[in-house]
Amino acid sequence: MDTQITIIHTRTKKQKPDPDSLGFGRIFTDHMFIMDYDEELGGWHDPRIIPYQPITLDPSCMTFHYGQTVFEGLKAYRTKEGRILLFRPEKNFERMNKSNDRLCIPSIDESFMLEALKTLVEVDRDWVPDAEGTSLYIRPFIISTETYLGVSPSKHYRFMIILSPVGAYYKDGINPVRIGVEKEFVRSVKGGTGMAKTGGNYSASLKAQEVAEALGCSQVLWLDGIEKKYIEEVGSMNVFFKINGEIVTPELNGSILDGVTRNSIIQLLKHWDIPVIERRVSMEELIQAHHDGKLEEAFGTGTAAVVSPVGELLWEDNVLEINGGQIGEISQKLYDTLTGIQTGKVEDPFNWVSEVGTSSSSKSHAI
Ligand SMILES: *Cc1c(COP(=O)(O)O)cnc(C)c1O
Repeated sequence: MDTQITIIHTRTKKQKPDPDSLGFGRIFTDHMFIMDYDEELGGWHDPRIIPYQPITLDPSCMTFHYGQTVFEGLKAYRTKEGRILLFRPEKNFERMNKSNDRLCIPSIDESFMLEALKTLVEVDRDWVPDAEGTSLYIRPFIISTETYLGVSPSKHYRFMIILSPVGAYYKDGINPVRIGVEKEFVRSVKGGTGMAKTGGNYSASLKAQEVAEALGCSQVLWLDGIEKKYIEEVGSMNVFFKINGEIVTPELNGSILDGVTRNSIIQLLKHWDIPVIERRVSMEELIQAHHDGKLEEAFGTGTAAVVSPVGELLWEDNVLEINGGQIGEISQKLYDTLTGIQTGKVEDPFNWVSEVGTSSSSKSHAI
């Protein structure tokens, strides 16, 4: 594959947003990365960084009709000293290839994508905000671009990376949320696409989210799609519980997304000699543990929030309050440590962060 990245710099740099009004995912930087796929042109080709702009697609492009698409999400953080750090970015491209495989999308060269990502972030380096809790959200994604209404894997694709400066997730401190246990709708089933990061999983989740919000819940707790007994995820996050001194999280069973944050939290807990186990967790077990006073903490994990404590679970007509509606001790320690590592404030014993702007992106050339 052609690994020469063409860079076309914008002539009109946008004004940087006010750091207090960043929010999530509405503001985009000056540049974006694109490459295209066509088997006849040698697969993935023409990698380029160009000014951020709309793209033109034929209405018959397959992505609009059958949802053959995958995406990723990660962040770049600015340290006190002004260095730009990425958190385990190789895991995202590794996972993207797993999603690609499930969606019949051709695989990408993971190390090249990492280089492309670092080059793009370096070009838009000034866009990484520095206020506490803020970061640059990175969205790599692939869409199917063959113009054809037949149902089959597309022959053409477009890979893109766009960047969005985002505000602090917890502006007013970490407030545990109320979560509704979802008994009717399911997010995914074993054999489906739950382990892939693909748009269809999200469109399938919207209805339950709407119902939960009407009940005063901020997210839903998803149960397994077959027996509706076992816990899978919370909203679009992985989920952990502390039950009687032990941390448990649902085991990866094919319908659960293998989160980078989840994986990092398991490693951190092991590093601290705190018992952590991946296994099936039923709603029945949670209710019993709550009844016995042994449901000590609950939290979701994902790139956006890092750790999101659950204060209450709404189950049928019952409200299970967890840790008096306060963030638990381990949840807080995990949040502080992970965000500390990500922003270069805390030692990184696992070598998880990698810096932007120090590797050789000399292969690329600017125009
Ligand atoms: C992305 C995602 C997560 C979290 O993954 P991270 O890599 O930790 O950000 C969890 N569940 C679902 C359904 C997701 O799409």
